[in-house]
Amino acid sequence: VIPSPSLALSLLLAATAPVPPADTPARLLGATLADGQAVARLADLTDTVGPRLTGSPGAAAAVAWALRGFKADGLEAWTEPVTVPAWRRGEERAALVPGGAVARAQPLAVTALGNSPATPASGVTAEVIEVRSLEEAAALGERARGRLVFFNHSMGAGQGYGDTAQLRTRGPAAVARLGAAGALVRSLATATLRDPHTGMTSWTGAAAPIPAAAVSVEDAELLHRLLARGPVRVGLTLGCGFATPPTAESANVLAEVRGRERPGEVVVISAHLDSWDLGTGAVDDGAGVVMVMEALRQIARQPVAPRRTVRAVLFMNEENGLEGGQDYARRHAAELPGHVAAVEADAGAGRPLGFSVTAGEGGEALVARLARPLTGLGAGGVTGHGGGADIGPLQDAGVPVLGLWQDTTRYFDWHHSAADTFDKVVPAELSAAAAAMGVMAWQLAEAPERLPRGPPPAPAASPARR
Ligand SMILES: [Zn+2]
Repeated sequence: VIPSPSLALSLLLAATAPVPPADTPARLLGATLADGQAVARLADLTDTVGPRLTGSPGAAAAVAWALRGFKADGLEAWTEPVTVPAWRRGEERAALVPGGAVARAQPLAVTALGNSPATPASGVTAEVIEVRSLEEAAALGERARGRLVFFNHSMGAGQGYGDTAQLRTRGPAAVARLGAAGALVRSLATATLRDPHTGMTSWTGAAAPIPAAAVSVEDAELLHRLLARGPVRVGLTLGCGFATPPTAESANVLAEVRGRERPGEVVVISAHLDSWDLGTGAVDDGAGVVMVMEALRQIARQPVAPRRTVRAVLFMNEENGLEGGQDYARRHAAELPGHVAAVEADAGAGRPLGFSVTAGEGGEALVARLARPLTGLGAGGVTGHGGGADIGPLQDAGVPVLGLWQDTTRYFDWHHSAADTFDKVVPAELSAAAAAMGVMAWQLAEAPERLPRGPPPAPAASPARR
């Protein structure tokens, strides 16, 4: 076979163009563990910017902080505007009201759920009715009218979050349709020091929103015991609600290292810049933010750029609307056929175990091969059903998605609560997670082959997963 002139030329260029050292993954790993900046950066973000509720001055400060940080690393960085909801917390308190099973008034530890409206200034006082599932809530029918519906559950480990979270995201709307006066949702937490854990609730399908609050695990147990004795009434006062106007201008923050051979092929590495307001968003998702920043910084320091472009995207508004993720997919729609993968880190600061993957047939096997340099770190594992909330719209557009798979044993002890602060982070674990992100970003950008696109193989056709 005689090579065509263009093939001959490309072979010649390939022979003379600089190529990265074969041990680049090991270099990235070593440099990130030895002199990485992820931990120091997270301290800076949480201590100097603090809470980053979407649409708040803290979120605006975080956008400026991230842009400054990328530029300080010598990277090409920019922002892309996103219109976001501007919901605010206010006064919040609740108490048991004497009568029925309640002998004496006692305060309850509560916090408003994101998107909840306020109560009247005098609060709402109503009888509590307990349910443990959306089905039980729907079955209340007329019994929900005028009541405070209490969503109880028994989430005992982080693995239960996905299912239990439905009670928080959909439960209040379900009972609003039945005429409930309000909703109390047991915190989605695996440990608690009587602190309530907030989170988003959605009003899709509800005629009108009703006041909705999370209650601490201890107070959920108290309500459950009292309800076994007889009727329980609770007074709830919330001052939260949407600002005027109800939206604000904010931004995603991006930076990239251009690919040396195929700059139009892009590997997105991502996390979300916004956080809930009760803590300082250290594990959710400041940790992911600094991992992504460190991964790109280390890749930029290599003598030769990877074959493809690595683009860091720090999304705004993951927590209560996903506007940043949706905006990115819309704005970059024409480029998405060239997006070879999107990776998100949004599972805390715990040690890395590997990657969860959603790609076409053979995708998991390829990621397992690319993750081999991470085996010594304990981060060479691969599991199915990957991705992250912000990159869901990219997944919908056919882009293969990965989630950084981490040890989340303690993540839901602190998640969405006042306890989500820097002191919960184990520095060596965060550094290891940053290294795993950097190595996988490099590997996806440098591998000769692309991850297969398309839906994952049907369960019946895939080999049994250990
Ligand atoms: Zn998160």
